[in-house]
Amino acid sequence: MKLYKCSLTELKNMIEEKRVKLQDIHESISYRTTSTDPKIKAYVNKNEAYNIDELDQKDYKDTYLKGLPIAIKDNISIEDINTTCSSKMLEEYIPPYNATVVEKIKEAGGIITGKTNMDEYAMGSSTENSAFFPTVNPWGKNRVPGGSSGGSAAAVAAGMVPVSLGSDTGGSIRQPASFCGVVGLKPTYGAVSRYGLVAFASSLDQIGPLARNVEDIALMMNVITGRDEKDSTCVNREYPDFTEYLKNDVTDMKIGIPDQYFDIEFDQEVRESVLNAVEKLKKAGAKIERVSLTGAEYALAAYYIIATAEASSNLARYDGVRYGLRAAGADNLEKMFTETRQQGFGEEVKRRIMLGTYVLSSGYYDDFYLKAQKVRTLIKNDFDQLFADYDLILSPTTPTTAFKIGEKRDPLKMYAADIFTVPVNIAGIPAISVPCGFDQKGLPIGLQLMGAHFKEEKLIQAAFSLEKILNLDIKYPALK
Ligand code: GLN
Repeated sequence: MKLYKCSLTELKNMIEEKRVKLQDIHESISYRTTSTDPKIKAYVNKNEAYNIDELDQKDYKDTYLKGLPIAIKDNISIEDINTTCSSKMLEEYIPPYNATVVEKIKEAGGIITGKTNMDEYAMGSSTENSAFFPTVNPWGKNRVPGGSSGGSAAAVAAGMVPVSLGSDTGGSIRQPASFCGVVGLKPTYGAVSRYGLVAFASSLDQIGPLARNVEDIALMMNVITGRDEKDSTCVNREYPDFTEYLKNDVTDMKIGIPDQYFDIEFDQEVRESVLNAVEKLKKAGAKIERVSLTGAEYALAAYYIIATAEASSNLARYDGVRYGLRAAGADNLEKMFTETRQQGFGEEVKRRIMLGTYVLSSGYYDDFYLKAQKVRTLIKNDFDQLFADYDLILSPTTPTTAFKIGEKRDPLKMYAADIFTVPVNIAGIPAISVPCGFDQKGLPIGLQLMGAHFKEEKLIQAAFSLEKILNLDIKYPALK
């Protein structure tokens, strides 16, 4: 078995039992990346600073992730390594500190392999909004990997790294996971520190793991969750050992399927694959019922108001004075601000800043922003009510499989593809995307499970059972 094909858990066990040298693992991964990444372009920046020859001699204080390779989305800060957000604005920016999640990974002995490509400032669903280059879906030459964490998903799918971190504001972990045939978990808002994550929409953003199986997701969740005094929205509570929940199955779990989600027109092959998984879950003992989730139909509209409003405010800091790019040659301050922002931001980012500024401006604030916040409360209440009776809610992750590069030129069409993922961020609840099949073109299909606040363990439990029941033969594609 080639080492790059091993899961994080398999590698961890081999290391603990001293059956493998760290050097061999990293050589295998590095070989795979060198041969694959020129086609996939998952990495913006590979971490050249770590020395493979010295890995076995290093002094690891904690051994939970001893020597294990992990890739990080390029909006998560790493000290002394460029954090570009795939934007010209931050191309040269080098953070002077580590994000808390990076600190936790390093403390646990993990090795960061590099920074992965993304839609600029995490705005998008295809990674085509990267200012540098688009990433390619390992399952199909002309297909997008999804976004905005497209690089993180593609790197894992292609076997360049067993796990990665992404960020999810409206689906950016789950949607690329679904398009690339990997697992992706968006934790409860407040379960993982956002300190060091470059802000897009602060009330929706959340960091989470992507991996080739649910077991590895559980392992990563054990490392990244927990209170952080540097992020006041990070909740102070005890988290379980998530790997303990891999022992239970779905017997007697109550799962709701919202009519509103299945009434929408979406790809027939996605529908059939998700419903096939539902039947299998039923046979395995889950109690599955149709439910009504009324507010969800307004979630997309509310999301694109709240997210753009917060983005317009968060991105005001890029003025050429403190971070990153400063336009040369401007002869006064105002010109310097304007030219910096004109040159530094791409089209989609500018569109969102304008939209956000508009919905927050006096005269429109009540009609748009305030209304969206009220809708947000209704959606959250709807979910809370359902979770009083149900353990989980199930849906497709995306309405289609991976679309073609360049296919969705109309931004509204791109936004509409987030229909199943954004309600989760609006409500702040956790959700996981797991592969549930392939369409006739051989592209992966993802199924989404949503849970009540801080019930990640139930997601992990059910997703792990589903993975076992479906037993899909997922290969390691890398564009022949
Ligand atoms: N696709 C959504 C957007 O463009 C979600 C992005 C994200 O989760 N970062 O806003």
